[in-house]
Amino acid sequence: MRNRRAALAAIAGAASLALTLSACGQSGEGGSKEEAGDTKGATIGIAMPTKSSERWIADGNNVVKDLESKGYKTKLVYGEDDPDQQVGQIENLITQGVKALIVAAIDNKSMNNVLQQAKDADIPVISYDRLILGTENVDYYASFDNEKVGELQGNYIVEKLGLKDGSKKGPFNIELFAGSNDDNNTRYFFQGAMNVLQPYIDKKQLVVRSKQTALNQVTTLRWDGGTAQKRMDDILTSAYKSERVDAVLSPYDGISIGILSALRSDDYGSKAKPWPIVTGQDAEVASVKSIIADEQSMTVYKDTRELAKVASNMVDAALNGKKPEVNDTKTYDNGAKVVPAYLLTPVSVDKTNYQKTVVDSGYIKESDLK
Ligand code: BGC
Repeated sequence: MRNRRAALAAIAGAASLALTLSACGQSGEGGSKEEAGDTKGATIGIAMPTKSSERWIADGNNVVKDLESKGYKTKLVYGEDDPDQQVGQIENLITQGVKALIVAAIDNKSMNNVLQQAKDADIPVISYDRLILGTENVDYYASFDNEKVGELQGNYIVEKLGLKDGSKKGPFNIELFAGSNDDNNTRYFFQGAMNVLQPYIDKKQLVVRSKQTALNQVTTLRWDGGTAQKRMDDILTSAYKSERVDAVLSPYDGISIGILSALRSDDYGSKAKPWPIVTGQDAEVASVKSIIADEQSMTVYKDTRELAKVASNMVDAALNGKKPEVNDTKTYDNGAKVVPAYLLTPVSVDKTNYQKTVVDSGYIKESDLK
């Protein structure tokens, strides 16, 4: 830590810190007091991916609130789903002298150069929600158990179809959607879901009529709902004539809304063609409303207020020479190292428990669901 601060002082030209240190005789004690004071007023850079989804707006606001409550200043930027823009924003934050970075990457492989700059300036980096790949210059990872997210979605499908308890044998038709291929979470979500679904696909109790089952056939660039809608339209036209789709694995609420639009255009949601089971993630207001209206079936709630707290605590510890709390030191290998992580637990939400989980907890206001 002393090295970190010393390097920072030299690089960022923190002349006042150096002066104060020499004024108090450079005793260890005097130095550390000054360090604590220095980090408290420090500015933390927060880079979020997009404002096009509610969750990231809430994430940004919550991280700012938590850091400010600990006495930090903050600079919050949104990359609007453009990886180059996000890298440029992080470069600016480093130039502006932030003392730590919290980054939710748009493209997890685009960060090597900019995080080298962070390293050179001795700035600790917290990878937020999405793991940054291919660089050693990621200090900690704050996220949810991402494989569990997929398992919750997969389990919901097999339970609701009656396959799990054996009350129905199928075959049922299912289509598969995954998230953006440049987001590391995508493969964890998909893997978690397929751990549950694949055995039923192998036994032909679940049939993917489009035959698109490999991850690279089912990803949705930048998690875009319109892209998913178009793919669902194409699948319905080419693979479903008189047959019906019984379930759709969707990794994210914005994608689910796109899928539901395509289904609606094909008369699903009518008496003759009931909605298939459609999963989701993030408990966004539009999707919780859709769940209440019996359209989308479920979502996965991840309390981003808790995630913001974890990330802010990591920053606070790292800047004060303490070891941030982690609960996973094995799972998240980013290709350059295993990044120590703190993982929170995702929760499955449908019509039966949305009130208790997302409304009573204050995550969504009841009035927003009207
Ligand atoms: C997050 C999800 C979110 C998705 C799209 C993922 O990295 O973990 O919560 O649904 O990005 O924004």
